[in-house]
Amino acid sequence: MEVLGYIGYGVLVFFAVAWTFCVRTQLAAGLHTIMGALFFVVSAILIGVLEINKLHSWWVLPSGFVIVMICTVILSTEIPLLSSFVRYLGSIYASLVRIGIPAGKVSAAQTAADIETYERWVQKEDQRSEDSEIVECLKCETKNRILSQKLEEASREGRKPVCKNCGEPLTI
Ligand SMILES: [Zn+2]
Repeated sequence: MEVLGYIGYGVLVFFAVAWTFCVRTQLAAGLHTIMGALFFVVSAILIGVLEINKLHSWWVLPSGFVIVMICTVILSTEIPLLSSFVRYLGSIYASLVRIGIPAGKVSAAQTAADIETYERWVQKEDQRSEDSEIVECLKCETKNRILSQKLEEASREGRKPVCKNCGEPLTI
């Protein structure tokens, strides 16, 4: 049984190290990943320092994934107090793990990840609405999405669709 305890504890320590390494190297890692890393690290330290039976590692491990899921729900539904608590705790741990990495680099990585998420979303929207057209405004270069149906309506009524940004009539 003792061997089983050490194996479980070894896996727990591995998770603590690997996730924390991920938080440091993947600067765009989300708060739920940061909270998971924090949970594994705190559990590994507590079990080690307090000399708790290492077999407990076996239920602590899956609990980490439950914690990650709970944090994801707390953050996405913006539960009052709890979501600020998770953000606060997560940012403290992340800044500790990322000591020596310039703050600008971290925020740049996060912005890049946000843009990528946004672009993926736009791409999905593009695929979904094939019955629409993208018209670039000649004045401000904003890309306007116009539903084919709206386009037909406008041309029937002798109107021109306008740019959502500057209000200039669009040339199609
Ligand atoms: Zn425009």
